[in-house]
Amino acid sequence: MTDSKTDKSTVSSPAASSGSEPGGDIAANLAAVHARIAAAAADVGRAADEVTLIAVSKIQPDDRVDAALAAGHRVYGENRVQEAMQRWTDRRALYPDLRLHLIGPLQTNKVRDAVALFDRIESVDRPKLARALAKAIAEDGRAVDCLIQVNTGEEPQKAGVLPKDLEELVRVCRDECGLNLVGLMCIPPVEQQPAPHFAFLGELADRYGLPVRSMGMSGDFETAIRQGATHVRVGTGVFGHREYD
Ligand SMILES: *Cc1c(COP(=O)(O)O)cnc(C)c1O
Repeated sequence: MTDSKTDKSTVSSPAASSGSEPGGDIAANLAAVHARIAAAAADVGRAADEVTLIAVSKIQPDDRVDAALAAGHRVYGENRVQEAMQRWTDRRALYPDLRLHLIGPLQTNKVRDAVALFDRIESVDRPKLARALAKAIAEDGRAVDCLIQVNTGEEPQKAGVLPKDLEELVRVCRDECGLNLVGLMCIPPVEQQPAPHFAFLGELADRYGLPVRSMGMSGDFETAIRQGATHVRVGTGVFGHREYD
């Protein structure tokens, strides 16, 4: 198995090939990431279209997002409900085939807003949130599906359900709440090799018959694809570096 360090040394980073603008040529970045997805999938005998690229647009300026939309990209990830509403409420009406994924922690008091905007919530991590989502989805009537975020590294500061509590949360989501639970998501600890975490998430997803595995970011998405990722969440690799205030 090849690790992510090898990936980086053999394939140039799309963000690194930027032109003079911050973020460079977004269409070219998208094409480069798609090529890397296809190559990683081919390494393990998978088809490129088995992997969906979620372009993570959090913090990025609107012009970069509009460039990605103009290039035809339609699947985006955001990690904050308020920020996503500002960016996407109007744009959503212009792009009927848009797919918005919430990939950040969700407070129960933001659940209604989240359900009104997002197509998929990737960060379900506790029964209370599952129940609030089920209620909001029933009231809103939109088809919103869900992933459970698993804290595979059992890091105290990180969101996600602990692996030992996953079985009960799956039960609550499916049987008690009737959520459309489609998969699992994880963010491995930054200081560890990601591959074992991705493999573990795949085992857990298999155990519960969940087809969607959202794993891999700019630094490790090829590793994630080799470990069965169906969705990769790439921010800086598509849009360039995020400029925080
Ligand atoms: C920001 C973020 C990403 C994207 O990170 P990059 O390193 O910019 O690709 C992916 N997943 C989650 C949950 C994030 O918050």
